[in-house]
Amino acid sequence: MTNPVRTIAIDGPVASGKSTLGFVLAQRLGYLYLDTGVMYRALALAALQAGVPTDDEAQLEELLQHTRIEVQAPNVNDGRRQTVLLNGQDVSWEVYQPQVERHVSRVAAFPAIRRAMVREQRRIAAAQPVVMVGRDIGTVVMPDADLKIYLRASTEARAQRRYHELRARGQQVELADVMQQLRQRDAQDTERADSPLQPAADAVILDNTALNVEETLQRVWTLIVGRTVSEH
Ligand code: C5P
Repeated sequence: MTNPVRTIAIDGPVASGKSTLGFVLAQRLGYLYLDTGVMYRALALAALQAGVPTDDEAQLEELLQHTRIEVQAPNVNDGRRQTVLLNGQDVSWEVYQPQVERHVSRVAAFPAIRRAMVREQRRIAAAQPVVMVGRDIGTVVMPDADLKIYLRASTEARAQRRYHELRARGQQVELADVMQQLRQRDAQDTERADSPLQPAADAVILDNTALNVEETLQRVWTLIVGRTVSEH
């Protein structure tokens, strides 16, 4: 019996657990995992490296045209979920630097940048079954996705998660700063004019404030199994 759920869109705010859920789900299904956030992060990193102002749409577009961003299955066993190459250079961890985090939402708000990224994401989705994670996957990138999940969790729970994640990676951050940055990025992503973060009309909204990874996965798995059964 083939699984009729071949395209899965997962959207949600910062640290809502999207990437963890998407990764585990893709592994379990044997599907491609694509966390689209790293594409915007890689461009923000490229801009910082090249000294291109992150508030200049035309210059960023020009930079993107001359930049090669590749997202691949992990080729190093160091906890990464994807290998990210920027012009052939491995930047899988650099894209999570605080400096990139401060600029990425500004870069991602520009329509010219989004158009190029979405084109690439759709090309990837057309080629194979995929679990795609981001902010506009269910609304813009894959409006026909077989299953759309919108993950949410309280700001406090998300800040705690991100704080522990960063500390585990050795970054000396404070909870209050993490919370403030999270709020700021959420506001930028929600308030932008082009493809703002919002649940698709047909998304299943899942609040995982009180759920761990396994419980969240179980809820989504039940949805997938339900759809598989109902179509046969
Ligand atoms: O998910 P992640 O935190 O890695 O995403 C980084 C940033 O990239 C987001 O805050 C958002 O500004 C942007 N993004 C986006 N659309 C996506 C994925 C990420 O605008 N599909």
